Amino acid sequence: MEFSSKILERAVNEVSQLPGIGKRTALRLVLHLLRQPKAQTQALTEALQTMRNDIKFCASCHNISDNTLCEICSANNRNSEIVCVVEDIRDVMAIENTSSFKGLYHVLGGKISPMDGIGPHDLNIETLVNKVKEGKIKELIFALSSTMEGDTTNFYIYKQIQDYNVVTSTIARGISVGDELEYADEITLGRSIVNRIPFETSLKS
Ligand SMILES: [Zn+2]
Repeated sequence: MEFSSKILERAVNEVSQLPGIGKRTALRLVLHLLRQPKAQTQALTEALQTMRNDIKFCASCHNISDNTLCEICSANNRNSEIVCVVEDIRDVMAIENTSSFKGLYHVLGGKISPMDGIGPHDLNIETLVNKVKEGKIKELIFALSSTMEGDTTNFYIYKQIQDYNVVTSTIARGISVGDELEYADEITLGRSIVNRIPFETSLKS
């Protein structure tokens, strides 16, 4: 792509670093911003910068949060003895939308994936295992997507905690294999949490 302006080229290059955005789309977005009032670009860059600088991760569940403890962990109407293990904030949002779950979450920040160079120590697993060891959790619900990486991650965590006094379950899947949680419809997802099955059962099937 030949540019008549180095300034334009730089902006397009930066925008095209985003996932799913090729050079053509980046050019379209940049030209769109050029046609809008300057204030719009200012608001956009400011929002992104504030997000990058000021956002925190909950000290307890690792969910993205504005404060040290996220709104879910600090709410007093949640059952802290039931913890739902998810991959990222999108899963928390999807499950919250179902209104079927009143426990807390633990956000791993990904799944074990040797192909992508992601091992157990790259994820928030140790803090979860510690919570179980301290006896703070009575039930752990695995709600990772049912991919090979999700299953590997579930099993890895299960191995670490199976000797402790904690019930493990996995969300019942009306969701077909490989579907990501965030795309499951609310009713199906809500039902799959209510009808969760013992984790050991899921290993045999
Ligand atoms: Zn939290």
